[in-house]
Amino acid sequence: MDKAMSKNCTRDKETVSGSRGLLQQEPLLNEVGSAEKCGVDLPPVPPHKARLGAMEREAALGLPGLSEPEALRHYVRLSQRNYAIDLGLYPLGSCTMKHNPRLNEKLARLPGFADIHPLQPQSTVQGALALMAGLSHWLTTLTGMDAVALPPKAGAHGEWCGMMCIRAAIAERGELETRRRVLVPESAHGTNPATAAECGFEIDQLPANASGRVDMDVLRQKIGPDIAAIMLTNPNTCGLFERDICDIADLVHEAGGYFYCDGANLNAIMGKVRVRDLGVDAMHINLHKTFSTPHGGGGPGAGPVVLSRRLSAYAPLPYLVRDGEGWTLVEHEAQSDARPFGRMSAFHGQMGMFVRALAYMMSHGNDGLRQAAEDAVLNANYILARCTEAMSPAFDGHCMHEALFDDRFLKGTGVTTLDFAKAMIDEGYHPMTMYFPLVVHGAMLIEPTETESKESLDRFIDTLLGLAKAAKVGETDRFACAPVLAPLRRLDETRAARQPVLRWQEDEGAA
Ligand SMILES: *Cc1c(COP(=O)(O)O)cnc(C)c1O
Repeated sequence: MDKAMSKNCTRDKETVSGSRGLLQQEPLLNEVGSAEKCGVDLPPVPPHKARLGAMEREAALGLPGLSEPEALRHYVRLSQRNYAIDLGLYPLGSCTMKHNPRLNEKLARLPGFADIHPLQPQSTVQGALALMAGLSHWLTTLTGMDAVALPPKAGAHGEWCGMMCIRAAIAERGELETRRRVLVPESAHGTNPATAAECGFEIDQLPANASGRVDMDVLRQKIGPDIAAIMLTNPNTCGLFERDICDIADLVHEAGGYFYCDGANLNAIMGKVRVRDLGVDAMHINLHKTFSTPHGGGGPGAGPVVLSRRLSAYAPLPYLVRDGEGWTLVEHEAQSDARPFGRMSAFHGQMGMFVRALAYMMSHGNDGLRQAAEDAVLNANYILARCTEAMSPAFDGHCMHEALFDDRFLKGTGVTTLDFAKAMIDEGYHPMTMYFPLVVHGAMLIEPTETESKESLDRFIDTLLGLAKAAKVGETDRFACAPVLAPLRRLDETRAARQPVLRWQEDEGAA
């Protein structure tokens, strides 16, 4: 064995500098910067008369000044601490695709899209409006739905848009007082019950059956004339296709309610299933989960909502209409011959995301999109099949785009799902989604996506199997202390969430 690996070389010693390996530790910018330092030469401010009156700042702003290399290194260091889709396999479940093709970025930067302003006269942005119409065409064709609302800026925002359309339809029927209940499965993403509550409905939870799907007997008991809607995710958050979905839609429709489908997992079925045929009335599509636009810190989201014929009249302002040779964005209710429920954002939606999503669709074509769905499902099932040897799948049978395990395989080892996930960090992997969905004990939700090669999946699976084996033979140190190789060790995440320190204060320093 290599000398460096011998017993007395403990690898979790703190270093003198605080840096670990070639990852740099750095103090806060407020601690290193000084107001006197500046990365650029700015001309002196000419004398001017303040127009802020009593609002005028009297003391210096106190921002830390940095030289150009200091500022640059700060951001490069931050980027190196960030696990990224451009760095390695990202197993987070319930996130779906994680691929931002460079072609999308190139197109989104074209000046004709990047340099226009939403307040420009519509006659000067016909190309952008045509792009929005093109995207709408792809979204309605892929889903078979009647209309699409482009303004929502995230999946959760789309849920709100769809549920507001449902609310408007119920109000028009004069049933807002009596149709109060929205059925939401226990396994649902937390945004579903939150949205229903935000729209003024009461939430009624639907339990899952032993196969991780909606319990039809309970559903039949719960259906009644006070049902406003059901909010159902398909494929659901257990990574399973809801086999009874058409019966569910029929039951809800017969009771006079609407079917809201959470379409966050559309990437598993696009090109394979026509959403309209499932009886859906409204469904959001997270462009960042199905059509390759950046997630989270990577940029603003977009969550367009497709609507059935029964709901399309209530879509929010502004919306696009064909106008002779060109396109018009209908901005005001007075201009509209529909019954929009209102307006949910200042402008028309996230143009940059529309460009990226359409670029992805057009570069794949309909057969390519179908193949992306098939490959996502294949990859998840490959993980499920190989990991079944040492881990415990939460449900029997095949999965869709994500593989769900529970913590039975860790029973008696003293290792928890959290420990297991932290040990993955030492192995160079971002952890999978943990403890979600809530209906599965110690859940580990793994979603590889369609972009991973077999080699990359095998490396990842070998790591999971190796860790599972280490837990079983009692190598608990590997888990209890993990992560030991990351720049920071195990953090008090609860305290960080409950008592976040959001403001640096000079006298408290780095406290
Ligand atoms: C991600 C997700 C959402 C919320 O989407 P955001 O774009 O993050 O607001 C809702 N439902 C499910 C099932 C999801 O996976």
